[in-house]
Amino acid sequence: MTAVLAELVVALVLTALATLAGWLAADRLGAELMALAVISFFFLRQIWLVRRLIRWAAYPLGTPTPSASGAWGAAFDALQRRGRLANAERENATQELDRFRRAAEALPDGVMILDGQRAIEWMNLQAEACLGLKGSVDTHSRITHLLREPEFLDYLDNSDHCAAPLQFQTLRNPGRSLQIQAAPFAAGRTLLLVRDVTQLQKLATMRRDFVANVSHELKTPLTVTLGFVETALDALDDTPPQEIAHYLQTAVEQARRMQQLIDDLLTLSSLETDSPPPLEDLVDAAALLAEIRQEVEALSAGRHRITLENTGPQSLLGSARELRSAFANLAGNAVRYTPDGGEIVLRWSSEGPAAGGRFSVRDSGIGIASQHLSRLTERFYRVDRGRSRDAGGTGLGLAIVKHVLERHQAVLQVESEPGRGSVFSAVFPAHRVQS
Ligand code: ADP
Repeated sequence: MTAVLAELVVALVLTALATLAGWLAADRLGAELMALAVISFFFLRQIWLVRRLIRWAAYPLGTPTPSASGAWGAAFDALQRRGRLANAERENATQELDRFRRAAEALPDGVMILDGQRAIEWMNLQAEACLGLKGSVDTHSRITHLLREPEFLDYLDNSDHCAAPLQFQTLRNPGRSLQIQAAPFAAGRTLLLVRDVTQLQKLATMRRDFVANVSHELKTPLTVTLGFVETALDALDDTPPQEIAHYLQTAVEQARRMQQLIDDLLTLSSLETDSPPPLEDLVDAAALLAEIRQEVEALSAGRHRITLENTGPQSLLGSARELRSAFANLAGNAVRYTPDGGEIVLRWSSEGPAAGGRFSVRDSGIGIASQHLSRLTERFYRVDRGRSRDAGGTGLGLAIVKHVLERHQAVLQVESEPGRGSVFSAVFPAHRVQS
């Protein structure tokens, strides 16, 4: 304000001086011309500075204001200060937005913002991956043009603040199950949260199947046991004792099957929950193989030719109990799925000077068709359910083997040919054996 007043005073003083000089020189016309010249000078200066201001306003943000003296200089300085403040605020807002974006990118779930017309304003990488979209191409397109599944469109139409999430599958990302939740917010916008729940759904299905399988596996022997015990009870008075003993014997066999099933289930559950097998416990390979051979011979009862070859490392490092259970399962299967007179070879060998060891069981039994091989370690998976049951199987043996081997960083390899036999091998890494 003072600068404006000062400029006005200077202009008035100069005009007055010019007029006074004209009067003193008794030249009225000269005095008027001088005053006009001074006034014009000030007037033209204002126009020139306004022009500079207009041109400055057209330059990019951040361009320094023009320099000027007096009132205009003060005005330009004030503008410059405001510009700097606005710049700092803009910078702050950009940084905030950037932080927010990076936080949203780091979220494990997909996030998408739709405008009032349901066009995509922004989405993070997880949302792109889940929904099969591409930010660089699909941003600003309407989501309803990109995802046309009727249940999704219905959900968007009816979504409100408390809408339950929708589970659906989209052709843009086949085979994946997605859970989507819409939350409307400011100015007609909608926030979409997307999560890939394929794995969760698989787990839920597996849990359901597992419970159904266990119930089914227990139900049959339980029904048979009950039936025979009731028959034996009813027949107590008028049936010969040998017949009653036969009923009870069958009931006992069925009870044993249930017991075996429950033992296998408990083994599996402890394999899932127990701490990993120790790396420092030495298991003597020769002693372990001798035990397995003894078990196999007892199970075979002379029906098969059984040989043992041991050229492998001296010790295994891990849990003796778990390794015995895995090896016994493989060897037991060879006995149960090899007809009488067949051959079974148990072999412990080295994989090479600096490598691990391999325990393999070769049989000349019924073999397995190739389409079953990848599923053998699934719980309750059997190639021939009736045969497995007759052989006293629970369908959990190879699942136990797989778990034990995984816990020892070993892998199971299966080669088999129907009618010719199978080779099941447990291959251990170098750090699990010692010579
Ligand atoms: P089970 O208790 O039924 O034997 P496992 O998990 O041990 O269950 O084996 C799964 C299935 O794999 C068996 O039901 C059988 O069909 C097949 N199988 C396993 N070992 C052999 C083998 N040595 N020869 C032929 N089939 C086998």
